[in-house]
Amino acid sequence: MSEPQRAADALGPSSPLVAPLYQSAVYTLPDLDALDRVTDGAEPGFIYQRDAHPNAQLLAADLAALEGADRGLVCGSGMGAICALVLPHVKQGDRVVASNRLYGRTAQLFTQELPRFGVQTTFIDANDLGAVRAALQTPSRVLYAETISNPLLRVADLPALARLAHERDCLLVVDNTFATPILSRPLEHGADLVMESLTKMIGGHSDLMLGFAGGKGDLLAKSSQTATVWGLVASPFDCWLARRGLATLALRQHAACANAARLAEWLQSQPSVAQVIYPGLSSHVDHDLAKRVLPHGFGNMLCFELRGGREAVNRFMRQAPGIPFSPSLGHTATTCSHPGTTSHRYVSAADKERQGIGDGLIRLSVGIEELSGIQSEMSKGLEQTPLAAKPISIASPRAAR
Ligand SMILES: *Cc1c(COP(=O)(O)O)cnc(C)c1O
Repeated sequence: MSEPQRAADALGPSSPLVAPLYQSAVYTLPDLDALDRVTDGAEPGFIYQRDAHPNAQLLAADLAALEGADRGLVCGSGMGAICALVLPHVKQGDRVVASNRLYGRTAQLFTQELPRFGVQTTFIDANDLGAVRAALQTPSRVLYAETISNPLLRVADLPALARLAHERDCLLVVDNTFATPILSRPLEHGADLVMESLTKMIGGHSDLMLGFAGGKGDLLAKSSQTATVWGLVASPFDCWLARRGLATLALRQHAACANAARLAEWLQSQPSVAQVIYPGLSSHVDHDLAKRVLPHGFGNMLCFELRGGREAVNRFMRQAPGIPFSPSLGHTATTCSHPGTTSHRYVSAADKERQGIGDGLIRLSVGIEELSGIQSEMSKGLEQTPLAAKPISIASPRAAR
């Protein structure tokens, strides 16, 4: 008798309340006939971890249900999920139309990786529907956008993008990482395929790296082969952890959204803050759109621009160590990042200017702590000895439009 079988037998009539971790690279089967049935899908089962394993399957099913997807797939990272979504739908000579405010590595996929396979991308302002329509006049396979963009939190008009894409026989693919399925379900807004980096809010504890891909109908069918051939596999332990994160996602997301909304208001009244960017503020360029696309909350991400540029940012980080500088997001506790030197480090100065990413811009991933604790730590960071009067120019997203 195999070792796992002996362990299963020892349980008798009991069974674990929590699904076990199947930390095994390979499975054993009784004979060739069983292998055939599992391979052909006539019977459930597993053979090799890169192809499928129980922890990934459970997580993918949970997320597909939450997202309203007919099929789901879990990959080893958010980037893995994006590749698993996009690669099966493009071939040499095809075109992609993508938002010009994408996560840096996604932009690299379109500007540096896909062109080597003869796939070209046209970048557009996804908030300019006329520009999207014009770009789609040239036949395109994929229209790609993020529900809430990084770092300036521009909101995509998903229903309008879906209509424009479908008029032209094109797929709408949406990165929903910043919104999470708690705030927005892109498939319900008309998107064909959706992804999230589970490394962020959904995992929620900054201790795993995974991505989810979900799709309508059979659109995701080819992605499983892409994931297994390109080796985009998810680790069982990370999947196990992500289900634990998922159990509290709604609670965490609502708590973090409430904190972010109140923090955004409060930051507006701080003298060292030149500008606060949060889709829930009426001053945000996409506020009205956000109310439609994100009816359950405006997210846990906010940005603020400090007067005094880079030096003021350094001072904030040194004076407020309780808001750790950590270039990711979605942790239980509040963290900060500096888009200009992290996520957008290799973006040209002109493009940073276009997007409104200044030296003084800090991005906050607001956590679920007591708001008063976040505020008192933030206050330490915002304290300033008067700076020498020096004119600074602050690019605003409004000006960048
Ligand atoms: C982090 C992130 C990704 C990539 O996810 P990884 O898990 O880091 O590979 C993609 N899109 C957005 C918006 C992200 O924030």
